[in-house]
Amino acid sequence: MRSVPEGDTIHYAARRIRAVLAERVPQHVLTPQPRHRSDRWGERLGGRRVLAVDAHGKHLFLRFEGDLTLHSHLRMTGSWRVYRAGERWKRSRRRAWLVIGADGFEVVQFDGPVLELLSDARARTDPRLARLGPDVLAEDFDGELFLRNLRADDPRRPIGDALLNQRTVAGIGNLWKAESCFAAGVDPWRATGEVRDEEALALVAFARERMSQSAHDGFEARPRAVYRRGGEPCPRCGSAIRQRGQWEDNRVTFWCPGCQR
Ligand SMILES: [Zn+2]
Repeated sequence: MRSVPEGDTIHYAARRIRAVLAERVPQHVLTPQPRHRSDRWGERLGGRRVLAVDAHGKHLFLRFEGDLTLHSHLRMTGSWRVYRAGERWKRSRRRAWLVIGADGFEVVQFDGPVLELLSDARARTDPRLARLGPDVLAEDFDGELFLRNLRADDPRRPIGDALLNQRTVAGIGNLWKAESCFAAGVDPWRATGEVRDEEALALVAFARERMSQSAHDGFEARPRAVYRRGGEPCPRCGSAIRQRGQWEDNRVTFWCPGCQR
């Protein structure tokens, strides 16, 4: 089953891309997707060194010399891959939006719905990016800021859905929302205003610990106690796992009615 990108996916990709691009000058930057054909990114980025590869939540940034940053968000469909030059690609070449070649490797973004070249100033001030909450995977994650953001959200919003608000905490998606609520024994339907600070911090602590592992080791490290297991027995208490869409975006959550309160 394909895994939808969440913060751990993006940090995992950033690590692999950093290993082949950081401090290097790419030999080519290609944008085969028709939407970007006239953007001349190859020319604009030609001869410039890659200074850094960063992730924040589900966003990935390739920072080049000369105040230029490539910003990507994969939404549900996109993926990043690192190939050796000449290696067979797992997706069709037609689906590549960006191909960066350097020292025997190719970094490829497939099916990426958000891909843009920004000045560094714009990357810092763009409202979509400036309003992101603390990155759940940041080493210096600010739990107090997370709590303040959470309390600024609608207190009637179910806690499961509130964890998906990227302005509150960046990087948690549908899988980590469901698994964190299960691990902490918190019913994702409980109104956020009824969730104590210690409980909210426990949810994020689980996500941080296990997402770090998955960002390092890949998808195999992701827990799957309840996510996409509707109707199956809960691994803790045996009750049937339930699933239903939540709040305004109707994102499906999975939970155990027997042991999540
Ligand atoms: Zn249970």
